[in-house]
Amino acid sequence: MMGAIWRKEWIMPYESAWSIFEKFIYANVIERKELLKAMGNEHVKKIKGTHIGNRFRDLLTLNGFDAQNIHNYMKCNLHQITRDTIQKLLHPLSEENADIWFSKSLRWCNDCLQFGYHSLIHQFVLFNTCPFHCQPLINFCPKCHTEIPFLLSDISLSDAFTCKCGYVFADMSTRWEKWNSTLEILDPSIMGWIGEYDNTLKKDKWLYIPKYVDFQTLSNRVFTQQNNVYRLRPSDSTLNSDDNLLHDISKNNRQIFKSVDKYLRKKLLYKHKACIKRLQYMLKRDGENFLPICPCAYAYVFWKQSLLDLPQFYGTVNGLQKGRGSYKPDFHMVAPIFKEQLKQLFDKATKVPRIMEEPTKGAIKWILNTASAYLYLRFFSNWLEFAEEGARLEQAPRKDMFHKIVNSGIRFVFHYSEDPIEGSTIQFIDNKNSLLKEKISSIKCKKMRSMNRQMRSFTPIAVSMMSFDDRQLKKELQVYVDQYVAKLCL
Ligand SMILES: [Zn+2]
Ligand SMILES: [Zn+2]
Ligand SMILES: [Zn+2]
Repeated sequence: MMGAIWRKEWIMPYESAWSIFEKFIYANVIERKELLKAMGNEHVKKIKGTHIGNRFRDLLTLNGFDAQNIHNYMKCNLHQITRDTIQKLLHPLSEENADIWFSKSLRWCNDCLQFGYHSLIHQFVLFNTCPFHCQPLINFCPKCHTEIPFLLSDISLSDAFTCKCGYVFADMSTRWEKWNSTLEILDPSIMGWIGEYDNTLKKDKWLYIPKYVDFQTLSNRVFTQQNNVYRLRPSDSTLNSDDNLLHDISKNNRQIFKSVDKYLRKKLLYKHKACIKRLQYMLKRDGENFLPICPCAYAYVFWKQSLLDLPQFYGTVNGLQKGRGSYKPDFHMVAPIFKEQLKQLFDKATKVPRIMEEPTKGAIKWILNTASAYLYLRFFSNWLEFAEEGARLEQAPRKDMFHKIVNSGIRFVFHYSEDPIEGSTIQFIDNKNSLLKEKISSIKCKKMRSMNRQMRSFTPIAVSMMSFDDRQLKKELQVYVDQYVAKLCL
């Protein structure tokens, strides 16, 4: 492969190592393993046989490749090119950890690929469209539906730009004279995202949980309510001054839950008070079946159970366990389901290197309170989306639906801006909770408030304590109640 066919003009801005290598493979009619052996680092060269692990094939880190060896063939520093693009894409996130932001499988634009071009911009998970053609990206072979790992690997590819199944992603026979055509970024918001890097005056700093951000939330600050801003004062106590912070945070968190809970019951669901009671205490009339479940009651009761991780949906739900008065030096949140994410936020805000130069205790508390209030309310709103179906079927959501209820539509980020004169500020930006009030008033429910009075509780325990003359009748009732509960078991 000494006199390899290559022109460095074939490498385009932001291009990924994947399409650069595919072009090289095409032009020189070689196999991927030959390329890996030729351009690999010493470690790869030492490996005998053909089994070379995926970490040496990675096209994001290029860990298995040697910059000088690549340069010998391609007259370019591919490691540097790749690093530069990664840095441009991650800069607005002040993020070091590239791994989570780039797709593990190939995502490409069909029109770009016709020019032999694939970009790390396509791999960047916050973008879902091609910035050059403004069309959705493809992430599996159109013929066999296999995903292509983002590796220099034969596992799902045969010839250059060709799937194992024979599907040709791009026919190069007439196209390779176009390898040096330049493409222009058409999407202005993506242009702004990448361009921001050159503008050293404008420093956007974000505090976020990776799984809860998308490009929209980050690039579109117009949704923001101006009053959702926290102003840091230099006189505020800083982190090191005393260490009751964790204790304060968990106390605040309980308070946040209580306010959200109260807001739901008193402001949003007050018309459904009786419905909630009926479901929660499993009220019904003697000799009759349970009445249809009200969707609002369904959403509320299961929201509370799943948020607080309670063993069952029915019975006396005090909500919170008694808070222990003693100081507990760990990060305690009322909702285990969101604890990990809030901990991430806490760590990011407090640990070095950090976004805020001088984080104050007040700021940290505000961030966690704001995020947990948003999460808890959003979670209710997600329950409400499913509630009509769940109530109609008298059934708890299945696993995948529950996963959706926990995760879908959660989008928020904190924007931090420094201002030595006015004082630095933190702004909470979210995707606005869907219109809860409207949703609730659209739900049809036969309120039947007065009926509760003629009902009594039929929870499994209550039933087991009822005295019946007819044991068979009691047995039947128990079976009925057990089945009802089993279907509604989270
Ligand atoms: Zn494209
Ligand atoms: Zn295929
Ligand atoms: Zn109702």
